[in-house]
Amino acid sequence: MKILSLKCVNCGAGLEVKQDINDFACGYCGVEQQVERSGGIVSLKRVEEVLDDVKLGTNRSASELAIARLKADMAAIYAQRDRAVSAFQAEDHKNNVFVGWGLVLLIAFSMGIFGPWGVPIIIAGIVFGSRFIKSKAKEIKSAKARAETMVEPLRAQIARHQAIIDSYDFGTQDTAQG
Ligand SMILES: [Zn+2]
Repeated sequence: MKILSLKCVNCGAGLEVKQDINDFACGYCGVEQQVERSGGIVSLKRVEEVLDDVKLGTNRSASELAIARLKADMAAIYAQRDRAVSAFQAEDHKNNVFVGWGLVLLIAFSMGIFGPWGVPIIIAGIVFGSRFIKSKAKEIKSAKARAETMVEPLRAQIARHQAIIDSYDFGTQDTAQG
C-alpha cells in the first residue's frame, strides 16, 4: 500500500495518508479534509470547501437553467412585439394605400372641375390626408417600448446568473493554479 506524504491544510503538520483513503481528520488539529487527485497531483482540501464547491456547482447549473429559461421568455416577448408591430404596419400600409388613392382621386377631380384653381383644394387635401399617414407610428413605438420594459428585468436576472457562473469559473481556475 502506497503512503502519501501530505501537509495538513489547517496546521501544516506532516501527514502520512494511505492511498485508498479519501476523507480523514488531521491527527494533530482534528480538521476534516478530503484527498483530491487531479492530473496526477494529490492535494488536501478542507471538507467545508469541498461542500462549498458542490453547492456552487449546484448554483451554477441552476443558473444555467435559469438563463436558458429567461432567454426563452425574452424571445417570446420579442416575438409578440414583432407580431404586434407587423400588424400595425399592415394597417398603416392599408391606410396609406387608401389615403394615396384618395389623393389621386382628389387631384383628378379638383383639376377636372376647377382647373388650376383646384390647387388649393389639393394642398388642403394633402395636409388633411397626411394626418392619416403613419397613424400607427405611436402604437408601434409604444409596443417596442413595452417589450423593452418587460425584457429589462429579465436582462438584469440573466446578468446576475451570469455573474454566479463567472464566479464559479474563476473559482475552479484558481484551484487548478494553486
Ligand atoms: Zn492539522
